[in-house]
Amino acid sequence: MLGLTTQNKVSKFASVVIALANKEVDKIFHYAIPDSLITKLVIGMRVLVPFGFGNKTTEGYVADICEFDDLPESLKTDKKKIKAVKEILDLDAVISYDLLQLAKWMRDKYYTSLYACIKCIVPTGISYNKETATAKNLELTQNCVFLNVDPETTDELLADNSTLNDKQKSVIYLLLEEDGLSVSDLKSLLKISDSPVKTLESKGILKIESVRVFRNTIFADNKAPFVKPDLTKEQDAALNIIQNRQDNRPVLINGVTGSGKTEVYLQVIEDALNSGKDAIMLVPEIALTPQTVSVFISRFGDQVSVTHSRQSIGERYDQWKKAKEGLIKIIIGPRSAVFTPFSNLGVIIIDEEHEHTYKSETTPKYCTKEVAIKRAELENALVVLGSATPSIESYYSAKNGDFTLANMTKRINDKFPEIHIADMCYELAEGNKSIFSMTLKDSIAETIASGKQAILFLNRRGFSTFVSCRKCGHVMMCDDCNVNYTYHKYTNELICHYCSKIAKNPTNCPVCGSKYIKHFGVGTQRIEQELSEYFPGVSFLRMDMDTTSGKNSHDKILSAFRAGEAQILIGTQMIAKGLDFPNVTLVGVIAADISIHSGDFRSAEVTMQLLTQVAGRAGRGDTQGKVIIQTYMPEHYSIEYVKDGNYEAFYEHEIALRRQMNYPPFTKVFSVMASSEDEKKLISFMFKLQSLMKYCNRKGLFEILGPTPASISKIKKKYRYKIIVKCVDEEKLKSFIFFCINKLTETEETGDIVFNLTLNPIFIT
Ligand code: ADP
Ligand code: ZN
Ligand code: ZN
Repeated sequence: MLGLTTQNKVSKFASVVIALANKEVDKIFHYAIPDSLITKLVIGMRVLVPFGFGNKTTEGYVADICEFDDLPESLKTDKKKIKAVKEILDLDAVISYDLLQLAKWMRDKYYTSLYACIKCIVPTGISYNKETATAKNLELTQNCVFLNVDPETTDELLADNSTLNDKQKSVIYLLLEEDGLSVSDLKSLLKISDSPVKTLESKGILKIESVRVFRNTIFADNKAPFVKPDLTKEQDAALNIIQNRQDNRPVLINGVTGSGKTEVYLQVIEDALNSGKDAIMLVPEIALTPQTVSVFISRFGDQVSVTHSRQSIGERYDQWKKAKEGLIKIIIGPRSAVFTPFSNLGVIIIDEEHEHTYKSETTPKYCTKEVAIKRAELENALVVLGSATPSIESYYSAKNGDFTLANMTKRINDKFPEIHIADMCYELAEGNKSIFSMTLKDSIAETIASGKQAILFLNRRGFSTFVSCRKCGHVMMCDDCNVNYTYHKYTNELICHYCSKIAKNPTNCPVCGSKYIKHFGVGTQRIEQELSEYFPGVSFLRMDMDTTSGKNSHDKILSAFRAGEAQILIGTQMIAKGLDFPNVTLVGVIAADISIHSGDFRSAEVTMQLLTQVAGRAGRGDTQGKVIIQTYMPEHYSIEYVKDGNYEAFYEHEIALRRQMNYPPFTKVFSVMASSEDEKKLISFMFKLQSLMKYCNRKGLFEILGPTPASISKIKKKYRYKIIVKCVDEEKLKSFIFFCINKLTETEETGDIVFNLTLNPIFIT
């Protein structure tokens, strides 16, 4: 068949990754390439192949092209088994050779299938679908009008009053200036109907052609003029470290907020562009993008584009395509932008590198930093990580020489905000029952009076957090999820924030019947209410999950605040980071304790990072900023270090604890979470897994913790239990876990038990 057996004929074969997200088909399958396709097929294209016993037509990615000798023995000895590629789906590769190598590395690193990794690299929506066929459907075209006559002769046309009326002439005038306008732009510019265009087309004076267009995704206010500042000494030193590096080890910029890290990034990118290379600028959250984008656009113009998950599939596809075709040189985006298909990558910058959004929570559960470092290694590019509060792991890498360290210790405007700690236990003892300490109340009044702006930060949403009985202590809980309901004032309802179940707000305690059951805690709406009470007429904006669900809603709220439309911005962690509002002189943290008590080994680190970032929002302009942190634990070390602004001291304290407790970076952690509706069976299964693990751990390489209920012990009727395993060696840890799970599931009935396996989880929940 297919000329395979004909001697002297060179046959080629494609190694194909089948597009089925199933661990069982995570093998490479080999297909013969028919002669008709041989010149067209390249590595990284998608093909249709017959797959399985029924030879069902299935999509696949060509991972390699090989010779007969490279085929597996079973195929070589039984040539009848060799099937052939049916069809090619693309005009060129959708995944480059380098990115394919990256996908293979991800498969092994994050214990998933190659197809899952490829899918994560190529844009959503290009998968084959019988009805809509190929990726071409994601491309947008527009009808554009062009002159169809030599511009030299038009003068004659325009002079001739008998053939053309005024409207038709105006079309020609416009096209003489700007040939190739879209039909809709032309009509709206001249305020005309279709008919003049149609008439001119029928006379052969115009032609209308369908033209490929890219959707515009940049809505940032980019009028800011570009002024390249003289670098400060520290910026210059950081840049020198990067420019004069001896190798491509990642560089960590540990630079306090306001030290001008962005300017260093811009210069590094300029260097890359000057040597003909491309740059990826990663930012943790979409809310931060507009500001970064406008700085980048004023500097690099339309060489910059932006991509993020709130764009439509078509919009994202366009950015991918532009990068692939070399139409842009810089992409700004969240973690998925690390896969941007630039062909000549120079640098990947990871701003706010400590942010947890860089870790993917869905399969493949990749860590963007690790992926960026691997991609840079494959493509000979540089990785620059930047933060005011580097993750303990990254700083440790810089200390032990795996990363190169650049420090920036001074703010550009040389002003650090004053930081006050308000002890809320003391406030209560003094009879202050408000959610605002006296200091915060006074400072808000001062700020408003002086025409400046304030940000109030709260790590929660809703009117208040929970409803509890002051008499018996009963808390209103969602039975399906085992978390407390959140009280919503406007609807007077209780809502479960995991499964969205709604319950009535009780007037009497369902347990003891007492009337003293009511909402407790603080929410952004409660802040609004107290603000209006103490400062009648004050204007404020709220930014949290409830107000930012719409497209571009972040941008709208932030632009309104920037434009001075409100004196106070109240928000959740969305407003904590990266934003630069020169007129904000006061930042209030309503309850720092929320993150101190998150019950995770990183809670001190996270609190320190969050508070430092929030504090960094104050006094970005010319006026001295003030930060007030309200807490019931003023003596906690994460709070003390924020007050002193001493990262190094925090690091020393924290790294000693990590070493002592055997936590990362001194060990790798693997969380084995399992869930089932049958709690008894789940517990018994998890204890069996634990004994097997203990039995297999005779050399004592692994530390095995649990099983324990997960901190959210039930979600959507499913109970959740976890076992945590620690080991110094990541590879050994992974093999151990998979060995034990496979061994147990061979003999044990698993029923509806579902595993959720995470290497180095950000939070052990
Ligand atoms: P970071 O990212 O380190 O928090 P930014 O990059 O936002 O700090 O810089 C803080 C402010 O200082 C910005 O408004 C920026 O425009 C300004 N800035 C940065 N570098 C310089 C410089 N060399 N001279 C003057 N202003 C600068
Ligand atoms: Zn009660
Ligand atoms: Zn629920």
